[in-house]
Amino acid sequence: MEIYAIPALGDNYIWSIDLDQGRIFIDPGQASPVLDFLKGQEAKESVVLLTHHHLDHTGGLEGLKEALPGLRVYGPWETRDLNDTCVKGGDLVRIFDQEIAVLASPGHTEAGVSYLWQGHLFPGDALFKAGCGRVFTGDYRAQYDTLEVFKDLPDDTLVYPAHEYSLENLRFAKSLFPGSLDIDQALEEVRDQRQEGKKTLPTSIGEERKTNPFFLAKDLDEFIAFRKKKDTF
Ligand SMILES: [Zn+2]
Repeated sequence: MEIYAIPALGDNYIWSIDLDQGRIFIDPGQASPVLDFLKGQEAKESVVLLTHHHLDHTGGLEGLKEALPGLRVYGPWETRDLNDTCVKGGDLVRIFDQEIAVLASPGHTEAGVSYLWQGHLFPGDALFKAGCGRVFTGDYRAQYDTLEVFKDLPDDTLVYPAHEYSLENLRFAKSLFPGSLDIDQALEEVRDQRQEGKKTLPTSIGEERKTNPFFLAKDLDEFIAFRKKKDTF
């Protein structure tokens, strides 16, 4: 098994889980980088998992369906027009010979979901390194509860968000927690990685526990205050 990051659009990653029996792509916002990635590789069955309905996560589907006949798509209710199978929080989906757990992750969108597979979490935009998605629904309680579910996962859970936002997120985190050595250290590391053109992901739940301001918010009110500050940072 191997997990690859396929850069797409400006700052998206399309994550790919490569299994013996097939490949899983999460949130293909663009078809061409996926098709380039597949060039010269052994042909295998492909499956797509969608976390939410935003175009930068779904825009590549049409092109992929054309190029990869038989492509199966799983997604939440809000992407129902694109799905072969609708999933919801609490579902256990069987793909190839693997079981993937679906977590309800509303807040950024109304019916967003995350996928948890063998200690690997794919949250789409519900969680970033040192950040979380903008609460477009206005339902801050939902987004807060979504983060509470992530916080209950084991520290060594690896997290594969859909955007490379780590540097700006950690700059924001530092502005809220100027005395945090953990945030200073993470910021320095991410700065180096970006200067070398490297990706800063995956992160881990344990790391987020120390450096993500939205994990560090002590209650819902503080979460709302941080999230609103971030919207204009
Ligand atoms: Zn989004």
